[in-house]
Amino acid sequence: GPNIVGLSIDRVTKRFGEHTAVDELSLEINPGEFVALLGPSGCGKTTMLRMLAGFETVNEGTIQLANRTLASADTHVPPEQRNMAMVFQSYALWPHMSVADNVGYPVKLRGLRGTAYQQKVQQALALVELDAYADRMPQALSGGQRQRVALARCLVSDPSVVLLDEPLANLDRHLRATMEHSFRDFHQRTGATLVYVTHDQTEAMALADKIAVMKAGKLVQWGAPETLYRQPRTAWVAGFIGQGSQLMVAAGHPGKRLESAALMRGLNAIESERSQSVLVRPEHIQISTTLSSSVAPTHSQLAAQVEGVIFRGERYELTLRLPSGETLLAYHHSAPDLGSQVAVSLEQGWCLEPDQ
Ligand code: ADP
Ligand code: MG
Repeated sequence: GPNIVGLSIDRVTKRFGEHTAVDELSLEINPGEFVALLGPSGCGKTTMLRMLAGFETVNEGTIQLANRTLASADTHVPPEQRNMAMVFQSYALWPHMSVADNVGYPVKLRGLRGTAYQQKVQQALALVELDAYADRMPQALSGGQRQRVALARCLVSDPSVVLLDEPLANLDRHLRATMEHSFRDFHQRTGATLVYVTHDQTEAMALADKIAVMKAGKLVQWGAPETLYRQPRTAWVAGFIGQGSQLMVAAGHPGKRLESAALMRGLNAIESERSQSVLVRPEHIQISTTLSSSVAPTHSQLAAQVEGVIFRGERYELTLRLPSGETLLAYHHSAPDLGSQVAVSLEQGWCLEPDQ
């Protein structure tokens, strides 16, 4: 189209024999956007990324970068002509080269030498907190350190699009948190377009400006993290992203928010009338434990039994059983007794589409 678009993916399909790994996937990625491809293992994330990089051809559809066609059924621009850099799930370092030589290799290939070269390598290593390891050989590093070397090597050549395939998957939790901040810093400083593959929804939400949620090769929702969290389209997306409970009510329709009064009315309707699935996030649940023995439910409260309590540091996570038999996940600042009754009020809910 006439719009200036960073990366345009239009109805791209990839088949391996009978199996469709990516199924008519379309995304418009703006220049400089940080995008996550999020979905469970096997949903086609790596395949989509490899098609962007040029390591895989496409069967149908087109991939365009700044209105230049990189891939279609009869076009295939080779990887080295795409100005993209990819970090693989299994980081491939050259074993006979030092960390610094591994990192500097892409810019050395382009003719960079001397102080400028040293500076580039130093900056890239600093970004992944490996300044002190420049002279080490890869086999003298831990798995996490090797992954960071692979990252530094990707970042050193200032690519216009950076493709990352689960780059933090092999790192411990503490380092992942540090690296999440590094990624955001890197993105802000370079302005590069980032496409980041992960199966981890908290990682995707922490990092990305926009998230493409994939299931079985298809795009199921595309939007900002806040939108996916607050307005998930389907029951499946709601279950995949964030914590929450899905309850049946007799009110509302998909894509609509139910305020407290309508939600409580819908929940109190007779069972046979409840046909709409509603997502209730834990932060929209108020709990009162003062009526510990016999709760007299009002129109704005439900009685619930405490079936599980988990301590999470800053809060307790409660599993509550509602009169309907449904369970509800709630947060609370203290731990009620197991088996006790609490009064629950729901501030709002979000109506979901059923899954296909
Ligand atoms: P993800 O990265 O989301 O885990 P992949 O893109 O690796 O998923 O794989 C998607 C599907 O395509 C899987 O069912 C996988 O087995 C299949 N697949 C991936 N690559 C190939 C290949 N080269 N040959 C055959 N099947 C493949
Ligand atoms: Mg993968």
